[in-house]
Amino acid sequence: MPAFADNPTSLSRRSFLIVSAGGIVSAGGLLAACSGDSTPSAPPVTTATVGTSSTTTTSSTLPPAPAFSADPFSLGVASGDPAHDSVILWTRLAPSPMDPDGGMGPEPVTIGWQVAADENMVEVIASGQAVADPDFAHSVHVDLGDLEPARTYWYRFFVGDFETEIARTRTTPAPGALADQLVLGHVSCQRFAQGYWTAFEDLATHDLDAVLHCGDYIYERNGSDVRELEIPEPLDLAGYRLVYGAYKREPALRAAHRVAPWVVTWDDHEVENNYQGDVAEEGSQTPDRESFLARRAVAYQAWWEHMPVRLPAPTGPNWPIHRGIDFGRLVSLSVLDTRQYRSDQACAPADIGPRCEGAFDPDFTVLGARQEEWLRGRLDESDARFTVLQQQVVMQQWRFLPDDQLWNLDQWDGYPSARQRLFDDLRASEAANPVVLTGDVHSSWVGSLALDFDDADSEVVGTEFVGTSISSDGDLLEAVIPVVLAQSPHLQWAQATNRGWTRHVVTPDEWRAEYREVDDATIEGSPVETSTTWVVPDGGQVTPA
Ligand code: FE
Ligand code: CA
Repeated sequence: MPAFADNPTSLSRRSFLIVSAGGIVSAGGLLAACSGDSTPSAPPVTTATVGTSSTTTTSSTLPPAPAFSADPFSLGVASGDPAHDSVILWTRLAPSPMDPDGGMGPEPVTIGWQVAADENMVEVIASGQAVADPDFAHSVHVDLGDLEPARTYWYRFFVGDFETEIARTRTTPAPGALADQLVLGHVSCQRFAQGYWTAFEDLATHDLDAVLHCGDYIYERNGSDVRELEIPEPLDLAGYRLVYGAYKREPALRAAHRVAPWVVTWDDHEVENNYQGDVAEEGSQTPDRESFLARRAVAYQAWWEHMPVRLPAPTGPNWPIHRGIDFGRLVSLSVLDTRQYRSDQACAPADIGPRCEGAFDPDFTVLGARQEEWLRGRLDESDARFTVLQQQVVMQQWRFLPDDQLWNLDQWDGYPSARQRLFDDLRASEAANPVVLTGDVHSSWVGSLALDFDDADSEVVGTEFVGTSISSDGDLLEAVIPVVLAQSPHLQWAQATNRGWTRHVVTPDEWRAEYREVDDATIEGSPVETSTTWVVPDGGQVTPA
């Protein structure tokens, strides 16, 4: 039983949780909103009550619910962005997720939530109400505060005659605490049509402290391949909501969200393939800057509506999502955005080609000046055993040719001066044991990050684990792996034929990465096993386990 369950003083402090459909603010946040600090389009703020089981919010204490045509919780639940004392709880009402309004109509709907200390939800320790606002696709984000550190909780939502399945979440260790162990899932790239989400089914059977998603949660282009998803490419808010609806209604993804809080960042496909800052890709349906930024704004909003993130709702195309999450003194996690602020890769019309002079311009950037400055501050302050960057595109060098004529310019290889700056910051900060977690390329790569990737004796500044995709096809890359590995003394292993996820087991002594591989993601129920395991000892470099 948590200490606060029978502590009335503590509970009264908790009873002023303020809920809004555009994000939840604490009582302090409400004061800020009253004094005019809130964003102009912030949705109305409503109050939720929190109490013990004797004053618990139940369906009978909620305002009458509308008649739903089907289960309004078709997209499941999620939790995310855990802190030592709080976590975000998410759901969205959508009885008919493939209708433009989710089958909900124009009215806001009040729903209830409960949090318990046990998996059967007998000991309810907090409950409340939240307003599902039609302006945000009837999604809710509950910022659940005053929790105990390093604890597992269970939660559910309910409205009318419907309630969600019970889901598990977990707070991070207390600030300063050095946990004995953390287990983190690492996932990316789930193009629906290209494979079954067996990797998520496997992940959902594991006991995890958090799941880290490196982006490509949706793909803007779908179709028929292994599975069928005939849905138009989204160009407006309704279009993006439909894609999220189509993805999130899948049982395997819902199950993966039920086992742990997620920490999510985006890559390109949440908006459009390989976009760079405010520049659309070649052949885009939104080719000019104005139409692309309008599209980026609605894509970002739809992402917010469907992700359990501790962020205010976006109010336009410019929206910082980089943020820090600390797991006590064991892991300092910096969640990065390598898409929104990057310089246009002006060297070639394609993403593969020679590096031109512009790539070496000292102002060329992947993270943008503001995010770089923020990251530098986090690195300088960190006293964590492992310094983790959760990001999108491959940071290690992939050399295809002995000269400068062929690079993947969408990766950090296209931005050598920006990579050098980041490596300089890592060294100058003396942040311990940098570990970079990457997605994007639908294949697995293990290697060290070297100051000079072409020099086998170069100083090493960290380790990168590139995780394979959940379902997006990567098989074509298999042919280039031997070419890249032969010219890369710091890369140790790669594979591109298997989908899966990576399970990282972190202790004060070592970082252990287990690559979980689905035998064949083009058929349902294919077996999953750990194919290879890699270890970074505290103060050392990555080696096979
Ligand atoms: Fe991808
Ligand atoms: Ca990508």
